Amino acid sequence: MQNSGNRQPVSIEQINGVGPAVAQKLQKMGLETVEDLLFCLPHRYEDRRQIRKIAQLRDGHHEVFQGEILAAGEMTTRRTRRRIYEVIVSDGSGQISLKWFHYKKQWMKQRFAPGRKAFFIAEVKRYGASLEAHHPDVDFLKQNEIIEQHISSDTLSFGRILPVYPLTEGLHQKTARKIWKTAVDGYACDLQTSLPQSILDRRNLLPTATAIQQAHWPDNDTPLDLLESGREAGRRSLVYDEFFFLELGMALKRRGVVIEQGIPFQVNHTYTKPLAQMLPFKMTDAQRRVLGEIKNDLMQPHPMNRMVQGDVGCGKTVVALMTALVAIENGCQVAVVAPTEILAIQHYRQFAPWLEQLGLKAALLTSSTPGREKKAILEATAEGEIDLLVGTHAVLQEGVSFKRLGLGIIDEQHRFGVRQRAVLKKKGANPHILVMTATPIPRTLALSVFGDLALSVIDQMPPGRTPVQTSIIPAQNRERAYKQIENEIDKGRQAYIVYPLVEESEKSDLQAACAAFEELSASIFSRYRVGLLHGQLGNDEKEEVMSAFKDGYIDILIATTVIEVGVDVPNATVMLIEHAERFGLAQLHQLRGRVGRGADQSSCLLIKSRACSEEGQRRLETMQATSDGFKIAEVDLEMRGPGEFLGTRQSGIPDFRIANLLRDSRVLEEAREDAFDMANQPDFLTSDRYSDLRNTLKQRWGSRLELANIG
Ligand code: ADP
Ligand code: MG
Repeated sequence: MQNSGNRQPVSIEQINGVGPAVAQKLQKMGLETVEDLLFCLPHRYEDRRQIRKIAQLRDGHHEVFQGEILAAGEMTTRRTRRRIYEVIVSDGSGQISLKWFHYKKQWMKQRFAPGRKAFFIAEVKRYGASLEAHHPDVDFLKQNEIIEQHISSDTLSFGRILPVYPLTEGLHQKTARKIWKTAVDGYACDLQTSLPQSILDRRNLLPTATAIQQAHWPDNDTPLDLLESGREAGRRSLVYDEFFFLELGMALKRRGVVIEQGIPFQVNHTYTKPLAQMLPFKMTDAQRRVLGEIKNDLMQPHPMNRMVQGDVGCGKTVVALMTALVAIENGCQVAVVAPTEILAIQHYRQFAPWLEQLGLKAALLTSSTPGREKKAILEATAEGEIDLLVGTHAVLQEGVSFKRLGLGIIDEQHRFGVRQRAVLKKKGANPHILVMTATPIPRTLALSVFGDLALSVIDQMPPGRTPVQTSIIPAQNRERAYKQIENEIDKGRQAYIVYPLVEESEKSDLQAACAAFEELSASIFSRYRVGLLHGQLGNDEKEEVMSAFKDGYIDILIATTVIEVGVDVPNATVMLIEHAERFGLAQLHQLRGRVGRGADQSSCLLIKSRACSEEGQRRLETMQATSDGFKIAEVDLEMRGPGEFLGTRQSGIPDFRIANLLRDSRVLEEAREDAFDMANQPDFLTSDRYSDLRNTLKQRWGSRLELANIG
C-alpha cells in the first residue's frame, strides 16, 4: 500500500523465477506483492568486493575466499563426543578447517571430493594459528574453470556488496537474491517519492526509488560500517519517510485540527484552593509546574491531550485531582479510569472524602459493582449528579454516559491502549484528556506511540524519601529475608510479600499466594497479623483488606501482583518478592515503588530461584543497581524490544516496515521536527501544495490515527 498511489498491487508471481512454490514460501514471510518485496530490505550485507587470501582472513568477519579441498570426512569431537563433518581447504597461502554440525553424510561425501575447487563464504574464526568456519556457503567451480572466469560469469555473487535476505525454509540465498534483484530492477523505478524536495535536500535523503535500489544493492563505495549499522542513505531515507508521515499525523492530532472545538475552561479556584489547604502537604515545585502546564491547556479552545509522566511515588494523583477540580469548577463531569480494581478503589477512597468536604459527589464503578448499585450510579452519571466517576474499564463500557463530560483521566496509561483514550473521548463533546504513567517511557517511544500527546514530567520526589535498598537473595537463604521482615514489623512497620503469575497456569499465582498465606500465618509469622489480597476477591473484600492494611490492622500483606500499580501505604517498609526473576523490569520497578513512600529506610528483597535465567539475573541486577525509572526502562526496552515493552498489541505501537525505534531514534527526531513544522503551516490543510502529502498521510495512517477531515 505504501507509495503505490492508486496503482493495483502487483502480485509476486508476476516476477520471473517466482513460481507457485516459491510464491508460497514468500507468502509465509508475509510477502504478497512486489511492493512487499521492495520494502523488505536485506537484514545484512556481505562484502564480496574482494576475495581474500586464506592467510589474510580476519577473525569474526564474514569473508569470501576460494581454495581446493585437501581432505574431507566425518569425525567425532573430542570433548563433546559429537559427530561433525570436516573439510580442509587450502589456497596456497594457508589452510582453513570448515565444519558442519548438521549434514547428510552421503551428500557431503559426494560434494566435497578432494581436489575440487570452490568459493566459500562464512564467518571466520581464528584460534591461535588455525582458522575455522562453520556451515559456509559453497559455490563450486566447474571442472577446469578458472577463478577469474567464474567471477566474471556471476556478477550477482562477486565483485560487489551483496544483500543478505531473511529467508524461510527451502528458499536459498542465491534464489532470493535473484528474485529481489528482478523486483528491484523492474519495479523500484515506479515508486513515487512522497516527501517534498525541500525536505530531501535539507536532510540529505534520496528519492524513494533510488533509496530502495541503494538499500538492496548498495554502490560499491558505500562504507560498510554505515551499511552494518543501518545508517546508509538508502535505508535512512526510507526510515525517515516512515517516521515523517506518522509524525505528521501525530502533529495534526496534537494541533487538534481534526477534532472540532473543545471546551475552554476558566481557572477560578472555587475548589482547587480549598483542596490545596486541606492537603496534608505542600505540592512540590514539579507538581506545581505540571499543574500549570495542564491549566494552560485547559483554557485553550481545543481539547487538551497531555501525558503526565513521573516515577512511582512522585505524586501524580494529587495533580490529577486538582485537574479534576478545575473541570468541576467549570460545570463539567470527570471520569477517572484505572487499570485495576484495587487502584480504582484506592483512588475513590482518597478522592471521595475530599470531594464530600467540597460539597461534590464521587462514585466508584467497576465490573464487580453490584447490579442495583450500578444502575443507580449509571443514572446519576447520566443525569449529571455525579461530579467524578472513578472506575476500571467498566467506565468505558457502552452503557455509561455522562451529561457533560469535560475531562477524562487515565491513570497508568501504559496498561491501556490508544483505543481506550478514543472511547473516553467519545463519551463527551471532545473532553480534555489527561493520561498518567509511572512507566517512564523512553523518549523515542513516547514520541512515536504517544506523539500526539503533550508531555509533562514530574521529575522530583516529595521531600523526605529515602531510596529503597534492594538485595538479591537466593531462595535457599529465604530465612534471612523473613528475619528482616520480622525486624521491621517489630519496629511497627508493615510488609508485603508478593507472588508472581506463573505462565503455565494463570491461577497458580493465586494458589501460591494462598498456600503461602496458610503456611506462613501458621508457622514463622504466626505471631503477626497476616492478610491476603488477590484478584479473585470481591470488591468489598479487596477494599476491606486494603483498608485494614492501610490502617495498620494487618502487619504482613501477602499478595499477587494486584498490588502492582498505585497502591499507597507509607508505613510499609519492606517488600519481599518471590521468584523475582520471573517478573519483568517494569513490573519489578512498579512493585518496589510500593515501599519507600515514607521517610524511613525501606527495603526490597528479591528472592531468586535456582532456575534463574541469564536474562532474569540481568533484570535483578539492574534493579539492585538503580532506582532510576528511566534507566530501568531503557534496559527493559533494550531487552524486550518496543512491542513487548509497551505490552504487546494493545499498546497501539505502530508496525514499521523498515524503521527500528531503537536504532533509528535520531532519524525519528528529525522527522518529527520537520513533520511538526509542516503541520503548523497555516494553509497545510487547505493549500493544493500539500494535497499529495495529505493524501499519502490519509492513506497510510488515516484510520489508525482517526484522522478524519484531511485530504
Ligand atoms: P504516583 O505518582 O506513583 O501515583 P501518588 O500520587 O500515589 O504517586 O503519591 C505517592 C505518595 O506521595 C502519596 O502518599 C501522596 O499522598 C504523597 N505525596 C504526593 N505529593 C506529595 C507532596 N508534595 N509532599 C509530600 N507527599 C506527597
Ligand atoms: Mg499513581
